[in-house]
Amino acid sequence: MTTTNKMPVLFLGHGSPMNAIEDNEFSRGWKEIGKSIPRPRAILCISAHWETRGTLLTAMAKPRTFHDFGGFPKELSDFQYPAPGSPELANEVKSLVTKTSAGLDETWGLDHGSWSVICHLYPKADVPVVQLSLDYMQNPHYHYDLAKELAVLRTKGILIIGSGNMVHNLRMVSWDKFHEPVFGFDWAIEANDKMKEFITSGDHKSLINYKMQGRAFQLAIPTPDHFLPLLYTLALQEKGEEVALFNDKPVMGSLTMTSLKIG
Ligand code: ZN
Repeated sequence: MTTTNKMPVLFLGHGSPMNAIEDNEFSRGWKEIGKSIPRPRAILCISAHWETRGTLLTAMAKPRTFHDFGGFPKELSDFQYPAPGSPELANEVKSLVTKTSAGLDETWGLDHGSWSVICHLYPKADVPVVQLSLDYMQNPHYHYDLAKELAVLRTKGILIIGSGNMVHNLRMVSWDKFHEPVFGFDWAIEANDKMKEFITSGDHKSLINYKMQGRAFQLAIPTPDHFLPLLYTLALQEKGEEVALFNDKPVMGSLTMTSLKIG
């Protein structure tokens, strides 16, 4: 079942793992997106939560639902997302990538960066999912260029999803706002607005050089893990392709859920 049309590319701001089991405006946003795009043959997900030395691909036929966090209710730690893997896709991606020799991993499974959002796009867990790790030794340019090598997958029915958060500063989270749906500090809104300007004007260079963008960006991106998946998504934008923003809201002060669809 190969799709001939080019698949869109997504960046999903995932936020709290609780979104996996909650019916809220963000999980509804992901459900809507899932319904609005062609059904993929498989998904390649670049999750903020898998950082490795070198680049790895999950290559198991049955990835576990990895609960890579603590301190959440039992309902969440019991949650399972039994989507199959795709050793075939892992091998295909491995052979596509020339910037590095990507390794095949048999242990990681799916972390919540992928399952907490994909479970809303494909609730039946019937689309195979492969994860690509983030090499923590590499700079943003490297990640952007590596992502470009994945472009052909879009013509083969593969849905590429970057899962992170554009603004993500856990140290500054306002925990008292956990149950308030929408709240953002001034700097978080400023950084998010500027990022959106860069995205809509196609200025990827300024986003790759995010360390040069001043104080609001420094607070928004204290570590690169949640931001880099955005660069993977943007690198796959072709000339003239539109970007649609959704779930564009701040939560808990120092996170934004802003998500986008390209193509
Ligand atoms: Zn996260």
